[in-house]
Amino acid sequence: MSAHAAQRLGFKVTILDPDPECPASQVTPFFVQGQHIDPDALYQLARHCDIITLEHEWVDPEQLSIIEEKGREIYPSSKTLSLIVDKYIQRQSFCAAGIPGPECEPLYSVEKTTELARQWGFPVVLKARHGGYDGYGVRIARSPEELLREWPSDFQNWCVEEFIDFDRELAVMAARGRDGKTAVYPVVESIQTIDGHRCDTVCAPAPGLGEEETERAKSIAIRAIEAVDGIGLFGIELFHTKDGRILINEMAPRPHNSGHYTMDCCVTSQFEQHIRSICGLRLGPTDLLSGGAAMANLLGSKTGDFSSTSGVARALTAVPQSHIHWYGKSKTRKGRKMGHVNVLGSSPDEALKTALIAREAFWRE
Ligand code: ADP
Repeated sequence: MSAHAAQRLGFKVTILDPDPECPASQVTPFFVQGQHIDPDALYQLARHCDIITLEHEWVDPEQLSIIEEKGREIYPSSKTLSLIVDKYIQRQSFCAAGIPGPECEPLYSVEKTTELARQWGFPVVLKARHGGYDGYGVRIARSPEELLREWPSDFQNWCVEEFIDFDRELAVMAARGRDGKTAVYPVVESIQTIDGHRCDTVCAPAPGLGEEETERAKSIAIRAIEAVDGIGLFGIELFHTKDGRILINEMAPRPHNSGHYTMDCCVTSQFEQHIRSICGLRLGPTDLLSGGAAMANLLGSKTGDFSSTSGVARALTAVPQSHIHWYGKSKTRKGRKMGHVNVLGSSPDEALKTALIAREAFWRE
């Protein structure tokens, strides 16, 4: 989707991916096959590009710094990424900037972690420091027994966090250009699937969030990007507690699922904003196009091949004003993000109801 946005602005795009059938390869013919941590593959990519960016953060910042030393521009930079890709280091960066978030410590031993958990209070959250997504790499321990049961064999690569008893999860997309100027999108509510770890739907603006809380959430987003000297578009996930606290959960150094609604519902989509910010172009307005917007993820219902054609037809018949995005991933898997539906409405609640009608029609056999 970033490649689409870049092409619309007249840029030629080359993709690096291990899978020649990856969705981005359907957008551009310029393709380097390889792992994003393979120095040769990175070098080949760099030969084709003036500016490099990424769509996931499972990279090795040190490898990227070698490419930067050869004169290629990478946004976000390897320095920024080195403060983000490890969730524990990320927390430390935010803590040093005075941004409120849960307590977090590396895992050393069961004894030390049990002691911390007693101090903070059970439950606690065990998190893989690298490579987690959609809740893979997050374990909740509600008691010393559960802590023992959930203890990871590669514990050196994990951290433990204070459990935040949030009443809802918020998210903000924000961009920072090469000149340091910023643009912030509306604060959204992100509603998770029943298992609690995967984004299911997003409502914009977050229903019932007051002006002061909205400004506080936006200010946390900007401070978080500045704390890592980020350039590009960032997704900032937040916890909102019953007593009105807003805490940072994590930051994604790229366009994010909770910003997909911007594609059809804001003046500038998050993908175009990302391209504008890394290419030194002026950032675009972030306003919503109406009183509310919603996004419903199309999560795979089973493993195997799946044709989207009749689902798209059903959804568009049920809700003609909906916008369906199907990513063209080669295989579906239960719970995998295969696409999403965007809908504008007079309010976020109304938009969400309509998006759910379109989604229900999409999956109906
Ligand atoms: P991922 O990168 O896999 O999405 P997250 O850190 O966002 O991992 O965690 C996934 C989900 O787990 C969050 O959306 C939230 O619902 C829950 N979670 C994560 N950290 C905490 C925490 N400290 N306290 C309470 N719930 C948490």
